[in-house]
Amino acid sequence: MSAQVSNVALVTGASRGIGAAVAERLARDGFTVVINYAGDAASAEALARKIEAAGGRALTAQADVADPAAVRRMFDAAETAFGGVDVLVNNAGILQLSPLADADDELFDRTIAINLKGTFNTLREAGRRLRSGGRIINFSTSIVGTLLPTYGIYAATKAGVEAMTHIMAKELRGRSITVNAVAPGPTATELFLKGKTPELIDHMAKMAPLERLGQPGDIANVVSFLAGPDGGWVNGQVLRANGGMV
Ligand code: NDP
Repeated sequence: MSAQVSNVALVTGASRGIGAAVAERLARDGFTVVINYAGDAASAEALARKIEAAGGRALTAQADVADPAAVRRMFDAAETAFGGVDVLVNNAGILQLSPLADADDELFDRTIAINLKGTFNTLREAGRRLRSGGRIINFSTSIVGTLLPTYGIYAATKAGVEAMTHIMAKELRGRSITVNAVAPGPTATELFLKGKTPELIDHMAKMAPLERLGQPGDIANVVSFLAGPDGGWVNGQVLRANGGMV
């Protein structure tokens, strides 16, 4: 039945990469987790089984975050299963590099639809539904600071996410809900590694004074802090987690 046994965290894009690490970490922290994915049901289900085998509680939820109706249905499903949602982690995102002058309309529209509109779609539901004491953790990128060539469209969507983070933190005054963003640097996932030469990966890893790539677990640690009791006084902030790159 729907008796609430622990706080509920919905993590978008949690079938792999940083989102999967976040879901696993929040489950370990005691949250019941909703593992959202777009296409890779098998990986999402495997993660849910892994969490359950470790004593946690998890549910998978297919939804393209770019689709507002699908996002509404996902929140409905979480509320039906667990009675409500306390934490939203807006991790789902895509990256395709292109100089602005070479980018086509399709790339621009798709990146906006998933990274910016997708974040808006879940923020809107969370703003209406999150329980008092809740947390919202958005995903930006340290590229908003480094502003490297070929990242223009992606950086624009994440700059928009940062703006919504600051504004929504203010709009939720009186609800005891914090809204923050994590802005990772280069992190060893498919999104970052795909299409890059070993030399380029090594070069980007060395940009940070800590001289390595981030691991998904490094970012999950930060999300765990912001979602947990120790992060409760942090609100309306963007936390860059990048080994000191920028
Ligand atoms: P990955 O490509 O490894 O994973 C992306 C995840 O998002 C997958 O689970 C995928 O699900 C899901 N996803 C993609 N599109 C949608 C959609 N339309 N609706 C729902 N889910 C979707 O990415 P990362 O783990 O690297 O990135 C996670 C976040 O971190 C992103 O917001 C990214 O911008 C940000 N980030 C990453 C950095 C990095 O270096 N890796 C650096 C800075 C920020 P499925 O496979 O089922 O489609």
